Amino acid sequence: MITILSGGTGTPKLIQGIKNIHEPEDLNIIVNTVENDYFSGVYVAADIDTVLYTLSDIINDETWYGIKNDTFITHEKLADLNCPELLRIGDLDRAFKIQKTILMKKHTLSEAVDIQRKKMGIKSKVLAMSDEHSKIVVQTNIGELEFHDFLIKHQTKPDVISVDYTKINPAPNIIDILEKSDMVIIGPSNPITSILPIITLDGVEKALQKTYVVAVSPIIGNAPVSGPAGKFMAAMGYEVSPLGVASIYKKFLNKFVIDELDKKFKENIEKIISEVAITNTNMKSIEDEENLAKVILGK
Ligand code: GDP
Repeated sequence: MITILSGGTGTPKLIQGIKNIHEPEDLNIIVNTVENDYFSGVYVAADIDTVLYTLSDIINDETWYGIKNDTFITHEKLADLNCPELLRIGDLDRAFKIQKTILMKKHTLSEAVDIQRKKMGIKSKVLAMSDEHSKIVVQTNIGELEFHDFLIKHQTKPDVISVDYTKINPAPNIIDILEKSDMVIIGPSNPITSILPIITLDGVEKALQKTYVVAVSPIIGNAPVSGPAGKFMAAMGYEVSPLGVASIYKKFLNKFVIDELDKKFKENIEKIISEVAITNTNMKSIEDEENLAKVILGK
């Protein structure tokens, strides 16, 4: 059994490759939830939805957000009605978000997601990291900002001083699944706002120490492939490089996959991680995604 820890963008790209070369029934994806919140009255679990859409082949794999060929009639009408939305939610995407919101009146987030993935015909398990709500805020030079305000309204431009999220408990089945896994893959997602929230849940680090853990660096050279991971890592005192990422995961990581452009970091990373693999990690096509999946799974 293989378990993948995921945020948005980078890890879903890798999941797209893994699901083509490995039995879907054998895959569990534990997904970050700290960025979840209500927008326009609907519950938005962006990373969970990206994983669900990826596994059911409806993801918009140009933006890695929302559904391909979606329309934005409701979003545009809301702007017309003087209710502009911070998030650009497509019509089909909104239907899944409304379904989740309705389900959550009677179910936990984990249960709601499980009902959704079964209805979508997804054979892999998609697991919310927690059923509790967490608030994530970014301390900046212009004051404290809600995560999505920093990301969208301020376009990640303010200087970041720190990133804080409230402590929450893991979803009931997470630790058991990690302990039973033959391999845990930490995908190339934002280490600070997507992966650390999962790893710092009570019991997760201990479970990871007992399993074979492989991670892929989301940083190539001295910058992330996309998004604010570099800014967040620097603010939290980590070097923005594959070595900096390795230092975040060093307590439990068995193998670290870095990009072929980053050979110069190998020697120093080997001082803290026993195995370092070098390959192309910049996924621009399905072939790139499958090749990276093969290096990780040893196929
Ligand atoms: P975000 O920083 O809020 O966008 O957080 P996400 O958890 O969605 O993760 C985005 C991360 O994915 C960024 O740190 C990117 O560097 C990483 N990423 C995106 N595409 C790729 C890719 O093709 N290869 C690698 N190695 N990382 C990627």
